[in-house]
Order: sequence, then structure tokens, then C-alpha cells
Amino acid sequence: MRFIKWLRAEIDRDDLDFQEKKFLLLSFVADFFVLCVFLADIVLKENIVEIAALGVTVVVAPAISLTSIRWHRPELGAQIIGTGIVCILLPLAFFYGGGLHGGAVYWFAFAYLFIGLMITGVWRLILLVFLTLLTAFVFYAAWRFPELIHPHPVMMGIKDAAVSAVYVGIAIYIMVWFQNRQYARENRKARKEAEKVESVSKAQNLFFSNMSHEIRTPINTILGLNEMILREDISDEVAEDAANIQAAGKILLHIINDILDMSKFQSGQMRLSPVNYNTGDMLSEIVAMLWIRAKDKGLSFHVNISPDIPSGLYGDEVRVKQILLNLLNNAIKYTKEGSVTLSVQCGDRVGDVINIVYSVTDTGIGIRKEHIPHLFNAFSRMEEDKNRYIEGSGLGLSIVKQLVDLMGGSVTVNSVYTKGSTFVATIPQRVVNNEAVGELDIEQHHAGMQRPVYNQKFEAPEAQVLVVDDNEINLLVVAKLLRKTRIKLDTAVSGAEALLKTLETKYDVIFMDHLMPEMDGIECSQLIKEQTGGKSRDSRVVALTANAGQEARKLFEQKGFDGYLEKPVSGEALENELIRQLPKELLQMAGEGADIAEESVQWL
Ligand code: ADP
Repeated sequence: MRFIKWLRAEIDRDDLDFQEKKFLLLSFVADFFVLCVFLADIVLKENIVEIAALGVTVVVAPAISLTSIRWHRPELGAQIIGTGIVCILLPLAFFYGGGLHGGAVYWFAFAYLFIGLMITGVWRLILLVFLTLLTAFVFYAAWRFPELIHPHPVMMGIKDAAVSAVYVGIAIYIMVWFQNRQYARENRKARKEAEKVESVSKAQNLFFSNMSHEIRTPINTILGLNEMILREDISDEVAEDAANIQAAGKILLHIINDILDMSKFQSGQMRLSPVNYNTGDMLSEIVAMLWIRAKDKGLSFHVNISPDIPSGLYGDEVRVKQILLNLLNNAIKYTKEGSVTLSVQCGDRVGDVINIVYSVTDTGIGIRKEHIPHLFNAFSRMEEDKNRYIEGSGLGLSIVKQLVDLMGGSVTVNSVYTKGSTFVATIPQRVVNNEAVGELDIEQHHAGMQRPVYNQKFEAPEAQVLVVDDNEINLLVVAKLLRKTRIKLDTAVSGAEALLKTLETKYDVIFMDHLMPEMDGIECSQLIKEQTGGKSRDSRVVALTANAGQEARKLFEQKGFDGYLEKPVSGEALENELIRQLPKELLQMAGEGADIAEESVQWL
């Protein structure tokens, strides 16, 4: 009993691996039955050679088992014992144990089990072949040379066979039971681990999205109020400080977005949101965003777009832009002098799917050959000591790679250290408009562009707008950013207050925060639409939220919102949205605002 308890405790030990446990159990089970056979043989007065062989086995086999387990070499122990069984024990047991009229035949079957369970690799094959030849040989010998077999009284043979059949049967039973038990345990363990990983990943995701929400709210204040400073008539020094605050805020935002994306990839929740888009517009937008950065650094920025690119494509435009912005931003970041070039060419086309090949070439610091294989790993920055003063998180290229992979494309890099690099992203997109983009004059268009200054787009003194947000500073930021438009702006710090206001006033547009205590923005906007006696049941409702990303955008679209703005929000974005949402007769347009009025509401 104590022995069984000890054995059970041993096979449940956490520091032994499965192979070691199996070896321990099988060795002891086998040895226990060999001991039983040994004792039975003494009682049955079996042949002395067989008794001696079994006696040696009873002592030697456990010694080998324990030593090999202590040295963590169960495989070697199993090889020695297996070889001993096949080469010594079985022939002796057969020829001195009555041949076919004894129990040896059952031990041949046991040897197959032992080899199959315990030995791996070439040695298993060798022993298996040897055992099979031996089995064939002993049966042949029993037929052709019966004189080789030590004679056995019939009754002794029957008893020996019966005892061996039971022993081997029980040994097989124990081993199968153990394998099943172990399998079920491992399965349970794996399931528990998977559940743990999933809950950690969920918690991590929730944490990142909460962090993103929490960090966006103060950035909204910083950038919004900073924009107000920039609009004032201020000294050059203050203007420069404010411009630096703006740049830092945007970098912070970029990092948050990258971390959010990375966590989505890690939890397998990154999804693409394909739409129809205009290739020329998309490229113009990219170039417009980067032109000034390159110019500020004294770099020349070239754009080389093949005129045969289809003008209408279907794919995740936002993510394609993100890939290009990342590559172009890096090119500008890691280039001190010279140029950055964006080339866009058509690759292979199969049916209506075309590979668009985007190349970004720079004359910058280049990348050492040995660093290239690690370039797309998350959090890895090359030559950290030299590039310490260039901002970056080491996430950009990893996100680029994962996005391109998700789209079924590829990204490669070619670089000469100290001379420059070329990143090539090949992205398959569906063609929805075959018409070629033709000669795009993007370079010309942006060559004369100046740093953007605030240009008021419209006035709407008759427009009634309500902003709902539980954070009072956010309300202040929106109010200040829209002050020049002279709209009649009301604010509410909760859903309940908003509902009181909509009962009395007909608002043309309502900007609605999402996460608010007690009543969230979605519930509040639904109640406004159904409000008995409410004056704003037909108001246009725009989500103005720190819940960023495509999923949030989709959610608000599904919930019947008329638009979506992400915090931090700029004065320009607020004005553009109002131009889209307000009735035309209320708008007194100024300057470039007229173009926006023509656009339809966009769920980009
Ligand atoms: P980071 O935020 O550090 O720029 P990325 O993932 O975008 O992170 O890039 C990883 C590393 O690859 C960078 O730290 C930089 O060492 C190197 N790298 C990326 N683009 C370029 C480039 N155009 N020229 C030289 N090195 C680059």
C-alpha cells in the first residue's frame, strides 16, 4: 500500500516531465510483475536459468530506472532496459520457460508495449525490428527445433501462461489508464492556461482602451486650448512654444494609437474595415500631411505616381494611409539631408484584385544588414544609442508588417547603411473604378503650401448647438473652439441635463460624448429621439468621443448617429462637421468652407 502511495506521489510530482513519469510508472509496474513471476517461478520450481534471469532483472531494472530518472535521462534508461528485455530476458524466458507452452509469449507482447511507449527515435526502430525478428525466430525454432526448448511439465506451462497473461494484461491496463489520465490532466491544464491567457488578454485590452480613453481626454484639453492660443495675436516666441506643444500632443496621440493597435493585434482582434475610396484623394491627403514636415527639415519630397493606377479602389483606406504615413514618417525622421520619395506603381492584377506597390525611398541613415531581420519586431529600435534623440516607440514597423499581412500583402526593405533605405509595401486592393488616375499634380499642388493658419470657415448666428459631456473642460474647449462661428451653443454635463434642454430647445446639431456616468451618450441620444414633447427629436446627433478607432465609428453608425468625431478634436474638424450637419440656410460661408458644404456626410 505504502509503495502504491509513494508511486502515485512520484508520478504526480511537478518537477518530472511526462516521459519521466511514464518511465517511472512502467518500470515499476513491469518490475513488480517480474518480481511476482520470479516468486511464482520459485514456487512452481521453474527452470533455474529463468529464475536467475528474473532475479537479476528484479534488482537491476529498478536501479537503472531510478538512476536515469535522477540524472533526468529517462530515455537512456529505457533504451538500456528495452535492450536488456529484447536481447536477454525474452530469449531466456522463452527457451527456459517452456516456449509456446509457458508465459513467455505474453512478455513478447509486453516488450512491444514497452518499446512503443518508452523509446523514441532510431533506437525504437532498431529494437522494434529486432523484437519482430526475434519473435519470428522463436516461433520458427519452436516448430523446427523443439529440442532447443527446455521441456516443461504441461500443468506448469498452463499455470505460467495464466499468471503471465494476467500480469501482462494488468500492466497494459495500468499503462493505458495512466496515459488517459495524464492526457485528461494535460488537457484540463491547457484549457485552464488558455482561459487564463484569454482573460489576461481581455483585461489587457480593456486596460489599453481605458487608457486610450483616459489619455485622450486631457490631450483634448491641451490641444484644444493650445489651438486657442495659436489663434491669438501672440509673440513669435509664444507661437513657437504653442506649436511645440501641439507637435508633442500629436506625438503622444500617435503613441497611444500604436499601443492600442498593438494590443488589438496581440489579442487577435484587429479587423479591417474596407470601403470604396478614391486613390488620388487618398494620396493627396497623405502628401499634404507630410509635405510640411519634410520641408521643415530641409528635405525635398518627391512624389512619383504611375498614371495607370485605377482611380477607385476597395480596401481599408484608413489602414493603407496608416501604413504609408508610418513609412513616410520614418523616412523623414531618419533622414538628415537629401530627399524622401514616394512612388506608387501597379503590380500584378488577377481579376479585379490589383497589387498596388508603394515604395518609400530616403537618403537617410540607412540600416545595418544585421539589423534588417529584427526591423519588424515589436518594440525593437535599431542603434538605440545613436538614435536616442529621434522620437519613437519601436512599434511603427511592427504594426505596418502586421497590417500588410492582414491585407494579404507584403513589405520588404532594402537599405545601404549610411546611404539610405527603400521600404516597399505591396498591398492587394479590389478595383472598383478602372479609370486611371492619370497625371496627378500632387507635388505642384503642395509645393507652395504654407503652415496652416486658422481660417474661419463660416458663421451661423441662428444655429442652435448642444454639447453633452460629463467633463466640463471638454465643454469649455468646444465652446472656445467654436466661439468665432457665433453659433448659439448650449452645454450639458449629463444625459439628464441634456434631456431637460432638448425638452425646451430645438437644437440643429447635438455633439454627444459616449461614456458618461448614469446615462451614456448612446442611451441619451435614443431618449432624445423618442422624447415625448421633445423639441430635438429630429436633431442631427454627432458622437464626440474619446473612444477611438474603426469599431467605435461603426458602433455609432449602427446606433443611428449622424456623424463621429474623435477626441482630441480640432477647431477645423468641429467646423467641418457643423458645415456638413447644419441646414444650409443657417450657414454664412467664408473662404474654403464652401467646398466642405458640398460634401456629403462621410463615414470614413
Ligand atoms: P520607431 O518608432 O523607433 O521609429 P519603427 O518600428 O517605426 O519604430 O522602426 C523601428 C526601427 O527601424 C527604428 O527605430 C529605426 O532604427 C529603424 N528604421 C525604420 N525606418 C527607417 C528608415 N527609413 N531609415 C533608417 N532606419 C529606419
